[in-house]
Amino acid sequence: MDERNTPMRSYQVCNVMEANQNNWLRTRHIPRDGAQRVYIEIKFTLRDCNSLPGVPGTCKETFNMYYYESNNPNLWFIKESQYVKIDTIAADESFTQTDVGDRVMKLNTEVRDISNLSKKGFYLAFQDVGACIALVSLRVFYKKCPTAVLNLAQFPDTVTGGDSALVEVRGSCVNDSEEFEAPRMYCSADGGWLVPIGRCVCKPGFEESKDYCQPCRPGTYKASSMDGYCSKCPPHSYSHQEKASECECEKGFYRADMDPRSMACTRPPSVPENPISTLNDTSVTLEWSPPRDSGGRGDVTYNIHCRKCPGDGRKCSPCGSGVHFLPRQFGLSMAKVLVSDLLSNTNYTFSIEAVNGVSDLSPTLKQQVTVNITTGQTVSVILKERKSKDSITLAWQGPDRPNGAIVEYEVIYYEKRDQNYTVLKTKSNVMTVEGLKPGTTYVFRVRARTDGGYGSYGGEIELETSHEGELPPACTCLCLFFIFIYHRPCVLALSCFIASCSEGISKIFMLSLMVSTFTCCRHCGYIKAKQDPDEEKMQFQHGRVKLPGSRTYIHPHTYEDPNQAVRDFAKEIDASSIRIERVIGAGEFGEVCSGRLKLPSKREIYVAIKSLKAGYSEKQRRDFLSEASIMGQFDHPNIIRLEGVVTRCKPVMIITEYMENGSLDTFLKKHDGQFTIIQLVGMMRGIASGMKYLSDMNYVHRDLAARNILVNSNLVCKVSDFGLSRVLEDDPEAAYTTRGGKIPIRWTAPEAIAYRKFTSASDVWSYGIVMWEVMSYGERPYWEMSNQDVIKAIDEGYRLPAPMDCPVVLHQLMLDCWEKSRSERPKFGQIVNTLDKLIRNPNSLKELANSSIWEDPTTPEFSVSSVDEWLDAIKMGQYKDNFSSSGYVTLDSVLYISLRCRTNVMPFNYLLVSLIIPFLFLECLVTLRISPFWD
Ligand code: AMP
Repeated sequence: MDERNTPMRSYQVCNVMEANQNNWLRTRHIPRDGAQRVYIEIKFTLRDCNSLPGVPGTCKETFNMYYYESNNPNLWFIKESQYVKIDTIAADESFTQTDVGDRVMKLNTEVRDISNLSKKGFYLAFQDVGACIALVSLRVFYKKCPTAVLNLAQFPDTVTGGDSALVEVRGSCVNDSEEFEAPRMYCSADGGWLVPIGRCVCKPGFEESKDYCQPCRPGTYKASSMDGYCSKCPPHSYSHQEKASECECEKGFYRADMDPRSMACTRPPSVPENPISTLNDTSVTLEWSPPRDSGGRGDVTYNIHCRKCPGDGRKCSPCGSGVHFLPRQFGLSMAKVLVSDLLSNTNYTFSIEAVNGVSDLSPTLKQQVTVNITTGQTVSVILKERKSKDSITLAWQGPDRPNGAIVEYEVIYYEKRDQNYTVLKTKSNVMTVEGLKPGTTYVFRVRARTDGGYGSYGGEIELETSHEGELPPACTCLCLFFIFIYHRPCVLALSCFIASCSEGISKIFMLSLMVSTFTCCRHCGYIKAKQDPDEEKMQFQHGRVKLPGSRTYIHPHTYEDPNQAVRDFAKEIDASSIRIERVIGAGEFGEVCSGRLKLPSKREIYVAIKSLKAGYSEKQRRDFLSEASIMGQFDHPNIIRLEGVVTRCKPVMIITEYMENGSLDTFLKKHDGQFTIIQLVGMMRGIASGMKYLSDMNYVHRDLAARNILVNSNLVCKVSDFGLSRVLEDDPEAAYTTRGGKIPIRWTAPEAIAYRKFTSASDVWSYGIVMWEVMSYGERPYWEMSNQDVIKAIDEGYRLPAPMDCPVVLHQLMLDCWEKSRSERPKFGQIVNTLDKLIRNPNSLKELANSSIWEDPTTPEFSVSSVDEWLDAIKMGQYKDNFSSSGYVTLDSVLYISLRCRTNVMPFNYLLVSLIIPFLFLECLVTLRISPFWD
C-alpha cells in the first residue's frame, strides 16, 4: 500500500536468510529512439537489515543496476558478463518492522544516466545479492531541447547529445522571412538552448512581430529585408494593399531609379528665372536665378541650348562645336556659364532649362528661358610708339566695324619681369604712359569698349624704356642672413644662405657663420650622448636586480646580450645542489621534473626543474632562458618564484618553487565539486592579486588561462608561464588568426584578436575566463564551439553564462571583465578589492545566478564584523587567542595573512582541511600554532 492506502504492484525479493544470493530481474528491450544519453529513474523500498530479527551478516542494503546495448529486440538470454554496470544503488530511506506494521512504505527515488548509446536499444537489469527490496517503478527517459523560435528562426525538438556534448542545430527561417546569417544554436546536455548565432529577417513587405513576420498595413511599406519595421508611405506616394515593399507615386510625381524608396516622390523643376548676360567681345557670361520650384529635389542642374543667326540674312542654326562653354554646356550645377569663341557681329540665342533627376520621367516638355545677344568687333593693333627713360607713348587704330559707338579704350601694361599689370583708360587713341623704370621692358595691349561690351585685345607689344642701370639683389641676401643668425642650428639655412648670397659677402664672415653652425651640431651630438643607455645602468646586488623606486618590468629583448639579462635577473645555481627525482610534465623545451634543492646554509626545499633538451639552437637557449629572466624580476606570493638557473653546465635548467597540485585546470577537473565557494573565491583572489602585481609592473601576460596557473599543496594559486615564445609555440590552445599571429582565442579579448592590442585590460578579459574555469571546475570555455563561432558569438554580444551554482556577484564580475570596451573593464586592483569584500561578507555570495534562492539550508547565514565573530562562524572560536596574540585583530589583517606568512608550511591533506576552514588561511595555521587536524 502507498501512503494513500492504494495497493502498489512491485517486484520483490527478500532472501535475506540465505547467503550467496544472485537474483536478476531484466527489462524488455527498450528502444533508444535516437537518444545518446538516457536517464533511469527508479523507485524502490529497501528493508533495514537491523530490523529483521535473526538475519545473518550476509544481509545487504544495496542492489546493482546494469544495462546491455543491443540491436536485437528479442534476446531471451544475456550473460551476466555482458552487462555493463551502471551503479550500486543504496537507499536514502530504509524501512523497519515498525514501518511495516504501519503499512507505510518509505519510497526511495534514484536517478542514474547512461551515455553515448549507439545501438537500437538496450536492456536494463537489476541484481540482488541478498537484500530485501521491492522495485515499485522504473521510468526511462531522455532529454530534449524543446522547439524554439529565436531571431525569427525555428529550431526543432532536439534530442540532447551524449556526455556533456553540445548538439549544433541549424534553424529554419519562419514564414515570410529570409536568412540574414545562417541561424544556429546549441542544444546542451540538460535540454537547454545555448549560444544563438545568426538570424533571419522579415522579407520586404513584412515586419517582425514577436516570433513571426506580419504584412505591412496599407499606407505603409518595407523596402528591404534589412529594414526593421514597416514605415509610412513618404510624401506624394501611397500603398493601397498589404505587404507593400514600396509606395507608388501620385500622379505628376516620380521616383528616379536611384532614389531610395523612403524618399518622397518628386517632380521636374520650374523654369530658371532672371537671366542676364555680360558680353565681352566674342564671349558672354550668362547668369540666372534657380527655379522657384526645385520639384522637391536637391539635384537641379541646367542645360544651355545655343542657336546662332549670322545677321546677313542667312537662317539661324545650332551653334555647333566651335562655341565653348565653361565649365560645360549640359549638367551645370551653378547658375552661371561662360560661353566663348563666338563669331563676331553675330546674333546668338541661348535657351536655359532646369532639370532634375525625374525630368526625363515626366512626359511634359521642359520649360526654358531665353537670352539673345549680339557679339561685338575686335579692336586694334598698336601702330606707333615713342620711348624715353621713364615714359612710353603709344598710338593705335580703332576697330574696322565697331559694334556700336566706341565709348573708351583700355590700355593694359605690365613690367615683363613681374607681370603685375596696370589698366589705364582713355577716350582718344593715343596715350603716354609715365612713371616707368629706366631700362625696363614693359608689355602693352589695347582694347575698345562699345555699348555692346568690350572688344578683344590687339596683339601684345614689348617696349623698353631708354635709360640703363641695375641694383644688386643685396636685400634678399641680408634678410636671409638675419634669419640664419636667428635660427642658428639650421644647417639648411646655411646652405640656403650661401646659395642666395652673392660673392660680395666677406669670406671671413662666412667662416664665422660656419663656425657657429658647427657649434650647433656639437650641441645636437651632446643631446644624443645624454641618451646613451649606459647612463641608465641599474644597481645589482647578489645577481638580482634592484629596481629603485620604479617597479617596471624590463623586457629581455631590451638587452643587446640576452645572457646579460639572465645574469642580472636569475641566480646561477650549482648543479650539484639539485637532486632530480621524477618527471612531472613536459614543457616546450624539454621535460619538467620535480626534485630538491639544497643551497649552502639553507634548508632543503622541493623544486620544479625545467631542462632544455639536447641539440638546441642558440635561439632556443635564449628563448628558454628568457622565461627565467622574466620570472626573476617578480617577487610575489601569487607569482611562481624563480629559485635560479643552471647555465654553466648541461643540461641548462630553470629551477622554480614546486607546486604540488600542478596546473589549475587539471586540478579542478580532478576535484569537481569538492571545494567550498570561499575556497574558490580564495583561488580567484590569489590569481587576481598576482595579476595586479604584474600589471603594476607593466607586464602584460597575454596567455592567462587556468592551464597556466599552478596550485600548491595549500591551494595557493600562482601565475606562471612567462616564456617569450610561449603564446606562439607552447600553448596548444593558440590558433592562428587571420592577421597571422597565434592566439588562444577563447581566453583572449576581442581587440587583441582583431588587432593585437594586448594590454592589462586584455589580461582582465582572460582573467574573467579563468574565473569561469574555476567556477565550472575546469570546464572548457565555450565548450566544443569552434574558434570562429566563439569570435562571432562574442562580437554579437554573447557572453558565457554563469556556471552551475555560481553566485550572481561572481558572474557579474566576469561580465564586467568581458566588457567590449576595454576601458570599462575593472582593473586588477579593483578585482582584488571586490573579491576581498566577498570573502569578508560571505552573505553576498548566497544568491546564485541560476537560482535566486540560497538553496542549501545546511549552510548557516552569516556576515561577520570582527575576527572573533568570523572564527565563531566557521566553528574555530577556540583559536581566537592565537589570532589576537599574533596581531590579527581586524578582518583586513586576516585577509592578508596568506600574503605575509609564506613560511614552511607542513603538507596538509587539503581536502580534509577544506571542509574545516577556507583555504586562504591555511598557510598561516602553522605560523599561528593552530593544529585543528591533529587536535
Ligand atoms: P610549462 O612548460 O611551464 O607549461 O610546464 C609544463 C607542465 O609542467 C605544467 O603544465 C605543470 O604540470 C608542470 N609544471 C611546471 N612547473 C611546475 C612547478 N613549478 N611545479 C609543479 N609542476 C610544474
